[in-house]
Amino acid sequence: MNAKVLMFHRVLPKSKFGGINAYKDRGTLISESFFESIIKKIITSKKRVLTLLDYHILQEKNEINSNDLVLTFDDGYKDNFEYVLPILEKYHLKATFYPTLKYCFEGNSSPLDAYYSIGDQLALDLEQRQDWITGEQKKHFLSLNYAGQKEFNHFLSKKHRKTPTNKALYMSVEQLKQLLSLGHEIGAHSYHHPILTQMSPEDLMEELARTANCLDLLGLPRDRTFAYPDGVYSEPIISKLKQEGYLSACTVEAKPVHSYQPFKIPRLFIHPDYDLTAI
Ligand SMILES: [Zn+2]
Repeated sequence: MNAKVLMFHRVLPKSKFGGINAYKDRGTLISESFFESIIKKIITSKKRVLTLLDYHILQEKNEINSNDLVLTFDDGYKDNFEYVLPILEKYHLKATFYPTLKYCFEGNSSPLDAYYSIGDQLALDLEQRQDWITGEQKKHFLSLNYAGQKEFNHFLSKKHRKTPTNKALYMSVEQLKQLLSLGHEIGAHSYHHPILTQMSPEDLMEELARTANCLDLLGLPRDRTFAYPDGVYSEPIISKLKQEGYLSACTVEAKPVHSYQPFKIPRLFIHPDYDLTAI
């Protein structure tokens, strides 16, 4: 038996979406009211809401039933603290958060945030907009490493004469600690959100060491779960995570698997047009 694992990213009141918003167009931003309607549906259908870690522990004991559900939040945007947390507390639910630790610890934003912010300032037509958010240009951006993404942003910024954002968009260390103290789970989502399969073995080791160090600094217990950045993984990556002591890891694949595979846990991507009857 498997639980349904829901995947969220950003949640904001509609009034804060602004004019053009890449996260909304990409589907990684939903409104606060839509989020609360999902939670209300979960409550009225009497689901048992678990953290990803509890899900793993109960799987080991064969105590999962089809009524079980997990709420996960990727990337660690501070809107999770401002708008998600009050709703979770209101309904007494615990969730799992997968913050991108570098940006939380440094109090800045990621190259992807900067990239989106340049596009949001431009009067692009539908096709150009699609290229920027999900098309070839976006794929090119994601294929670059951290330095390459920064360089590409610099190029776009000069070309279009727009300054990218460098606002603190992520939860602070204090906010992450508060989530922990309230009984929510924090899991690993890497240090700076690289595509893990594109890294050299040395860089991967460094990335995982930095991730573990940040989680240690948060005072996180050693039983930890992982969420693959952009959902990308391979068998060698799984072996590495097992060596590092992780108990399970979630993907971004929605297809249900019949048996529980701890390092290939599927998730349902909850976007603004998601059909709630599937929950
Ligand atoms: Zn992510």
